[in-house]
Amino acid sequence: MAKITRKPVPRKAAVPKKKAKTAVAKPKAPAKKSLKAVKPWTPAEIHQVFSRFRKANPEPKGELEHVNPFTLLVAVVLSAQATDAGVNKATRALFEVADTPQKMLDLGEESLREYIKTIGLYRTKARNVIALSAKLLGEFGGEVPRTRAEIESLPGAGRKTANVVLNMAFGEHTMAVDTHVFRVGNRTGLAPGKTPLDVELGLEKVIPAEFMLHAHHWLILHGRYTCLARKPRCEVCLINDLCRWPEKTV
Ligand code: SF4
Repeated sequence: MAKITRKPVPRKAAVPKKKAKTAVAKPKAPAKKSLKAVKPWTPAEIHQVFSRFRKANPEPKGELEHVNPFTLLVAVVLSAQATDAGVNKATRALFEVADTPQKMLDLGEESLREYIKTIGLYRTKARNVIALSAKLLGEFGGEVPRTRAEIESLPGAGRKTANVVLNMAFGEHTMAVDTHVFRVGNRTGLAPGKTPLDVELGLEKVIPAEFMLHAHHWLILHGRYTCLARKPRCEVCLINDLCRWPEKTV
């Protein structure tokens, strides 16, 4: 039998190791202070926060002008990515002529556009307002419905719209999270969250029921006039001693 001879496998040439570079220490960015490291809120502190808001402003009001649930709904739909003041400027004249779904349909999309053309995205918004008016008449007897799912089914209306309408028109304990509430919930540490829904559910969990009817407005007003986005006015803030924001001043 022939002898099998194995060919010697050539060894891989050893790759010379790279000389380790002398590490040059990069200057470290200053560590960002994290809310995770701060003390959690106690129920007594949260009660204190809302007691102070209530004492300062017992009956807070939303700033969107309206005369009934329908005009409130329309105003909220128009307010997406617009200021309340800008919306009010346009709706004052509009609601004089169209304060019901039928009157809005009678006005028509083209004329409606003329009333609201100073508001951003007015073409889409005009289309939605006409479509939601038709849906209210066709499916809800011309009335604004009272459930979240039904309001959210209307053109142009999302979760925030439903929360505002349920709270302001029907007195439900909902928490609408706009840009101000989102910022205040995160900064103070009351309800940190990556999305408006996280903050909404977090706030609903910690705010005592006795404050929930007005909590949404207190937080909006706090964010709009005190806890400003770029330069919070911590020096005049009612809840400065309790706020957990590591960068608060005073
Ligand atoms: S102390 Fe400053 S950061 Fe904290 S809630 Fe007040 S204004 Fe906002």
